[in-house]
Amino acid sequence: MAAFDLVVAGAGILGLAHALAATRRGLRVAIVERDARAQRSSVQNFGFITITGQAEGVTRTRALRSREVWREVTADAGIPIEQQGALIVARRPEALAVLEEFAGTESGAGCELLPAAWIRERFAAASPQIVGALFSPHELRVEARDALPAILQWLEQRQGVTVYRGREALGLEAGGLATNAGVVAADAVVVCPGSNIAAFAPELALEHDAHDCRLQMLRVKAPSVRLPAVVMGDSSLLRYAGFATTKAAAALQARFESEQPRHVAAGVHVIVAQSSDGTLVVGDSHRYRRWSPAESAEREKEERREDEALILEELARLVNLPGAEVVDRWTGVYPVATMKPLLKAAPSARARVIAITNGLGMSTSFAIGEETITELFG
Ligand SMILES: Cc1cc2nc3c(=O)[nH]c(=O)nc-3n(C[C@H](O)[C@H](O)[C@H](O)COP(=O)(O)OP(=O)(O)OC[C@H]3O[C@@H](n4cnc5c(N)ncnc54)[C@H](O)[C@@H]3O)c2cc1C
Repeated sequence: MAAFDLVVAGAGILGLAHALAATRRGLRVAIVERDARAQRSSVQNFGFITITGQAEGVTRTRALRSREVWREVTADAGIPIEQQGALIVARRPEALAVLEEFAGTESGAGCELLPAAWIRERFAAASPQIVGALFSPHELRVEARDALPAILQWLEQRQGVTVYRGREALGLEAGGLATNAGVVAADAVVVCPGSNIAAFAPELALEHDAHDCRLQMLRVKAPSVRLPAVVMGDSSLLRYAGFATTKAAAALQARFESEQPRHVAAGVHVIVAQSSDGTLVVGDSHRYRRWSPAESAEREKEERREDEALILEELARLVNLPGAEVVDRWTGVYPVATMKPLLKAAPSARARVIAITNGLGMSTSFAIGEETITELFG
């Protein structure tokens, strides 16, 4: 008998989700992670578990189920929920029209349209340009850089998962996972390598043009600002499918493109979250181009500077932040591909290779993990 029922390669949120789903069935699980500590997509993000604005159907269903699991895991592992809900503010009448249409749909259930007067009364730092808002009570936010290591430790110490840190998975083997320190024998293997997907499913990655999306993120110190929830603006409405597919979105898109072409080119969609120390996590831009290695370092540096300026410009249109100061900045990466929302391969009946390709892994991974474990173990 193999030492484990399941070995998972990759300790990002998707790998952890698979490990959790398997332990909940009483299976013996190991995780193999090449890094000594979490540092990829799953700790570079907002930690925002988003429901409102997700595409109707499988994505929203996965997000609702994943939020349930987040509630259970955070409670059991002692991980703080930093914020609840989202305040989606409109500064153009076209954006307000999107929010009004959305509020009347099935996905708008539980959300509340708020007049500009409410915003001015309850959210002192809001920009005077805001003409109305939608409040969604459905979202959760965790501090990703703390939550991910805490979940891994909780799986290891409280759920009996064996964790091999600093060990690189090399490929699938009959009877387990080959690593740089020998084979981890297991009845089933799931590889969740994030943007390293081409190393494990090269043909699939090529067929679906898998490549990296780079996102600029900032941490901003803004004394005395208190956000009522995670704040999103007009630009976010064009990013989330649930809003972007309303009839009203076309007019907003046209206006955004004509008024802010540089934001459109850099894929800037501003979200602002707040951490328990009061700092704001602000992002992000989306850059999909691939430069040749010779030109990439200089070009990427230029883009990072430009993206930071564009993000701060858009932030100032949402929130007044006198005396605000950027105290940290980082570039996140996740894979994108023509196959959405997942790149998924089944190299054998007992093995899966999976990467999330729509940048919504914090919101959907726990449900995806449960689906795969059902596929593999019935
Ligand atoms: C800036 C930014 C903002 C985002 N905002 C949000 C958000 O608000 N809400 C949301 O839902 N999602 C958001 N996302 C997307 C989300 O972060 C990702 O979808 C998710 O983290 C993907 O998780 P993952 O486990 O697939 O990948 P990763 O987190 O990249 O994990 C993959 C892991 O596999 C390991 N690995 C790779 N190759 C090997 C190997 N050979 N051997 C061993 N280990 C290996 C890596 O070291 C890594 O730890 C955001 C992403 C970014 C970058």
